[in-house]
This record gives sequence, structure tokens and C-alpha cells, in this order.
Amino acid sequence: MKILANDGIAQEGIDLLEKEGFEVKNTRVAEEQLANYINKNKIEGLLVRSATKVDKKLIDGCPTLKLIGRGGVGLDNIDVKYAESKGIQVFNTPEASSESVAELVFAHLLNGVRFLHDSNRNMPLDGDSQFKQLKKSYAAGVELRGKTLGIVGFGRIGQATARMALALGMEVLFTDHLTKEATLSLSFFDGQSVDFTLKSSELKEVLANSDFVSLHVPSQDTYLIGEKELGLMKPGSGIINTSRGGVLDEVALVEALDSGHLAFAGLDVYESEPNPEIKILMNPKISLSPHIGGSTLEAQERIGIELADKVIKLLKK
Ligand code: NAD
Repeated sequence: MKILANDGIAQEGIDLLEKEGFEVKNTRVAEEQLANYINKNKIEGLLVRSATKVDKKLIDGCPTLKLIGRGGVGLDNIDVKYAESKGIQVFNTPEASSESVAELVFAHLLNGVRFLHDSNRNMPLDGDSQFKQLKKSYAAGVELRGKTLGIVGFGRIGQATARMALALGMEVLFTDHLTKEATLSLSFFDGQSVDFTLKSSELKEVLANSDFVSLHVPSQDTYLIGEKELGLMKPGSGIINTSRGGVLDEVALVEALDSGHLAFAGLDVYESEPNPEIKILMNPKISLSPHIGGSTLEAQERIGIELADKVIKLLKK
């Protein structure tokens, strides 16, 4: 049986599949040639990440397909309903990247409170006076310890982010339309663990009482955080979005940053991917990353193994 990993797969996943007798084609086929390639090679399993779009046309053009696996969480690039109506099984690997995304939240948060994203852009190649001037302009950093992190969406990544915040000595508020209470266990390297029980608050309370807000909801039909919600946030606070573009209104965000109401933002996802607005890219108060929340070696390895395990279970049963 043949599997095409069109957006790449970790070697550990390939090894597991090959051990079970699958032939894995770990190659990138352009969108317009994909149906032809799948048919010619009699591919039964298509593995993708976020880059490959699997729409009705592709599904109709590939009668050999039995399953589609998405490495990662969001299934927005796959027409899941249509695939399933054609008898194709669709699955994802929701757990594998949570810790990596949560760590990226703190990369952006630490950038924001110590201006690292901007100082990286502005460090002088030489010149004493410019260095001293920069030192002054970046002198008013703040610590995360003792501050409050507001988490919007308390699922896998929201909770992983909360555990890291608690470990740093931060207070955590959260809002979630399903989870009203959660007990988080913080495990340490010596095997000890501490439990924290947290209760949810209304979105407006989270926004008004947090020094920083981090977004962890799935794709929404309308902005969850627009002008009104940004207006409720504490003056001088910061916001991080590693969830999905479209959850946060970027026009309202830039206005809130330019007016000085918000101090900074950290973005891994954008309303217009892969071409974020120039106003976002050039804003000195925004720490940027190109949708790499799950792009660590560890997450990729876990994703590869989970994809392989699921393919083996589904196609060899
Ligand atoms: P999850 O399903 O475990 O958690 C999402 C939570 O949001 C759920 O608890 C749900 O009840 C809550 N929720 C949904 N709509 C809400 C609303 N309107 N108000 C309040 N709560 C709401 O998902 P997850 O695995 O934690 O992923 C969270 C987000 O992160 C998703 O958008 C996912 O696509 C994104 N993600 C991004 C990257 C990246 O590379 N940046 C990687 C993985 C996942």
C-alpha cells in the first residue's frame, strides 16, 4: 500500500510505516499535479499538514484514496464532510504539538515584555552612541512573574500554556465556552507534582483583568477579539495569537497598538496567510513568526509517529 506525505513527515513515522510494509512517498507534489500523481501511483493514504488543500475537486479526482491524515490540529484545509461522504477516513494528530505551541506563546511574551523583536531589528553594526540610545529606549521591560495571563480557549494548548504560566509564577485566568473548571497538574523533573484548580471567567473579565491575553480557540465565523474586546483590555497590556488568523481583528489590533492602548502583540497566525498585511509585518510593536507553533523537532516526531500509528491501524485492520 502506498502513502504520500505531501507536506513532509518525520523519519520516525516513515520507519514505522515501512516496517509494516507501506511504501512512503515523502515528496511535495504541486497542487495542479496532485490528483494525477495519486492516481498514477495508486496512493491510498494522503498525509498533509497545513499547506496542501484537499477540496472536493481533489477528492473526486482520486478514487484510490482511503484515508487523509492531517499532521497537526486544524482541519480547515480539508473538506472533511465531503471526504467522509465518499467513504474516505479523515484524522488529525491533535495532541502532538500542544507543548510546542505553548512554548511559542512564551517566546512571543518574552519578546514583548523585553522588546527583543524590535531590538533584534535595530541593533547597530557599530556605533557607541546608537547602542546607548537603544539601551535607553528598551530600558522599561517588565517581568512575567507575578503578572496575570488571560487564556481564551482552555483546551489542549490553552491548558499547556496555563501550566507554563503557573510554573513561571504567573496568575492565570481563563474563559472557555465549554470548560468551567479544570485541575492542572504541574510535574517536575524529580517526579513531584502540584495540582492547581482553576475556574473559568467571562471573556470580558479575562480581558479586563489580565496583563497579557493569549488566544487558543479554533477558527471562528466572526472575530472573537475585535475593537470592542481590545478596548476592554488593560491599558499597556499585550496579546498573543497562535490560534488562527481571523480570531483576532488585525485592523483593530494595529489601531490599539498605534494609539498606545496595547503595548505589544505576538502573532504566529494571520488573517491573510501566507501574505500578512504590510502594516502587521512592519509594526515595531508586533513580534512575528510564520505559523510555526508546531514546528519543533519533538512535535514533528510525535506527529510522524501518531500519523503512522493511525494509518497502520486503519489500513491494516
Ligand atoms: P482544543 O479543541 O483542544 O481547544 C479549543 C478550546 O476552545 C475548547 O476548549 C473550546 O471549548 C474552546 N472554544 C471554542 N470556541 C470558543 C469561544 N468562542 N469562546 C471560548 N472558548 C471557545 O484546541 P487546541 O488543540 O488547544 O488548539 C487551539 C488552537 O490552536 C486551534 O485554533 C488550532 O488550530 C491552533 N493551533 C495552532 C498551531 C500553530 O502552529 N500556531 C498549532 C496547533 C494548533
